[in-house]
Amino acid sequence: MALVVTKLRAGVEGREILRDLSLTIPSGEVHALMGPNGSGKSTLANVLMGHPGYTQAGGIIALDGVLLQELSAEERAKAGLFLSFQYPVEIPGVSFLHLLRTAYAALHGEGMSAVELRKRAEAAMEALGMPAAFLKRSVNEGFSGGEKKRAEIVQLAVLQPKYAILDETDSGLDVDALRTVAAGVEKLRGSMGVLVITHYSRILTHLKPDAVHVMADGQIVQSGGPDLAQTIEREGYEKYVPMT
Ligand code: ADP
Ligand code: MG
Repeated sequence: MALVVTKLRAGVEGREILRDLSLTIPSGEVHALMGPNGSGKSTLANVLMGHPGYTQAGGIIALDGVLLQELSAEERAKAGLFLSFQYPVEIPGVSFLHLLRTAYAALHGEGMSAVELRKRAEAAMEALGMPAAFLKRSVNEGFSGGEKKRAEIVQLAVLQPKYAILDETDSGLDVDALRTVAAGVEKLRGSMGVLVITHYSRILTHLKPDAVHVMADGQIVQSGGPDLAQTIEREGYEKYVPMT
């Protein structure tokens, strides 16, 4: 069981950004994807999720053996993929609880009662230090940066996807928020595969990845253990260059 990306080529408006990118995230593991700004991390996240603005020109994306590349974003979500955006959007007029309910029903059917779902959400929120009152508020409207990121992890905990991609969930978080968000993801370890996309190694001191991948110019140029994050912190990204 794994999310397997093989020789992925993709881009936007005729421009190739991902160049033969290969990456495997085994179910239950936490992997980190690091790379300088502009290396293509968010593009990878969007292409995996099937964002209509991006075009896949080649390669394979398989989730537990299910080929995703022909599927719409909604179908990919149903197949078990979740993306937490680098910049979560505000949805005025839609309460956070309503979003959770609707998203859960869309993914898993009407199996969970409203009471049960609310309980799950409240438990996740409590662990993340987020008051239950947020359930009544419009999604992300007026939320601080840290609250938006916490809300993403609440969605993750409630929706229970098979694989989650967290795009710079750590950006803009203060130390305490970073620690709680990392702990929130840590709790989910084992129950899903997680790809933590980050520019800095900071979050990885609280959330120990099973593997670290370094991206440069649309390719994975190195993979290794958690130590690789420390090496990058010390030495920067300069020495990581694409093969072509
Ligand atoms: P990262 O997340 O690693 O900072 P991105 O995936 O956002 O990198 O960007 C990789 C490259 O692709 C950049 O040069 C960026 O300008 C370009 N790019 C990404 N998305 C778009 C888009 N929608 N339109 C035009 N260029 C894009
Ligand atoms: Mg990005």
